[in-house]
Amino acid sequence: MADCIFCKIVQGEIPCAKIYEDDLVLSFLDINPINPGHTLVLPKNHYETLFEVDPETLEACILAAQKISEAVYRGVKAAGLNFLQNNFRAAGQLIEHVHFHLIPRYEKDGFLTSWPGREYAAGEMEKTRKKILAEL
Ligand code: AMP
Ligand code: ZN
Repeated sequence: MADCIFCKIVQGEIPCAKIYEDDLVLSFLDINPINPGHTLVLPKNHYETLFEVDPETLEACILAAQKISEAVYRGVKAAGLNFLQNNFRAAGQLIEHVHFHLIPRYEKDGFLTSWPGREYAAGEMEKTRKKILAEL
């Protein structure tokens, strides 16, 4: 993708603080970290969202992310770590090249301070379950 910033990083046209690389996967530090050590893991090939990634590439990304997560967690002496991935603008995706966030966390670091869950209305949970199952 000619105008994709992450493709440009993969091609070496834009620099990055590289953490890991193999045939399918690249990982580097996020330039605007939630906390120092915030790392991105992505497929070298361009896919917009999680939905398009082929199984072999996804497996390589997840396995790399697992290994790198522990290195981040230990390396920056974090108290926790979030593994996040945003799909489409409504979910906070700004760069349209699928990527996984590995975010080291500390008590009271101010990120994700609320998780505004709500209860289902009567019957809503079962209706929702059926809608999902119809697509599976
Ligand atoms: P998202 O909102 O999930 O699309 O996340 C995009 C992430 O990419 C943000 O956390 C940005 O800080 C990060 N980012 C944008 N440009 C660069 C870059 N050139 N190098 C490293 N990280 C970047
Ligand atoms: Zn791309």
